Formats: sequence, structure tokens, C-alpha cells
Amino acid sequence: MERILDVVRESAAREGITRVRTVALVVGPRSGAMPEALRFAFEVLAGTAGPGGTQTAAGPPATDSAAIESPGPPGRSGAGRGPAGLFAEAVLLIDVPPIRARCRRCGTRYGEGDENGPDWAFTCPACGSSGPEFLSGNELRLDYYEGD
Ligand SMILES: [Zn+2]
Repeated sequence: MERILDVVRESAAREGITRVRTVALVVGPRSGAMPEALRFAFEVLAGTAGPGGTQTAAGPPATDSAAIESPGPPGRSGAGRGPAGLFAEAVLLIDVPPIRARCRRCGTRYGEGDENGPDWAFTCPACGSSGPEFLSGNELRLDYYEGD
């Protein structure tokens, strides 16, 4: 997560962006990253975290009186780094794409949500072979960011 914010920070510096509004990530179900953990890390690193509060893209903005300046866990707050306030108003969006796989034996493509797909055991519906190549679902990357 920190590396992703570093990428945004560097890009924003090049583009002359001083306020990042949106940071959108693609987080595959098999990436090993938990969206809620990413959200927490984002709030800590971006300095948007309120005391125990979660500011989600869908929910109402935090209105706690103490939400403006949160000390955060000792030694873990990254709010002081980088241009001040770059992420102060940023909203984190997380897109979780479906898992897609391709059978290594017969090449059949299948995946999560297929009408006749497997009960998600990574077994080819055509030939029964297991251990497919994953086409998507492992990714953890920045999709885009917006700011001005
Ligand atoms: Zn197959």
C-alpha cells in the first residue's frame, strides 16, 4: 500500500497535483490482500484516519470532532510525510475483479461466476485438470487516481 501511495505521490508531483481526490485500486481475490486491511493502511498512510473510524467511499464522511487530527498508532502514522495534505481528502476505491483461469491442459477458460463454472475449486470444467494458469485474480495494483 505504501508503494502504491508513493507512485501516486510521485506522479502527482510531476503533474502538479496538490490534492488527490480518488485513489482506485484493483485487488484480486487471490492477491492475498484484504480490502479492509488495505483501507486501514490507506487511512493510516494518507492521514485520513479518524479514531477507530472508517471512512469508506460509500458511507458518509466522518463527522467526529476529533477526526481532523488523529495521532494514530505510535510510529505508524505517515501523515507527516510528503506534501502536506496531498491525501487529506482522498477516497480509496477498491475494485475486486473476478478470478479467471485457463486450463493448462486443454486451454479452456473458466472462472468465478461462470454459469456452468466450477464450484470454484480450480478444476477445469472441460477436462477436470487442476492447477490452472490464473489470468486474473492475483493482481494488486493502482488502477487510477484523480486529483487537482
Ligand atoms: Zn481442461
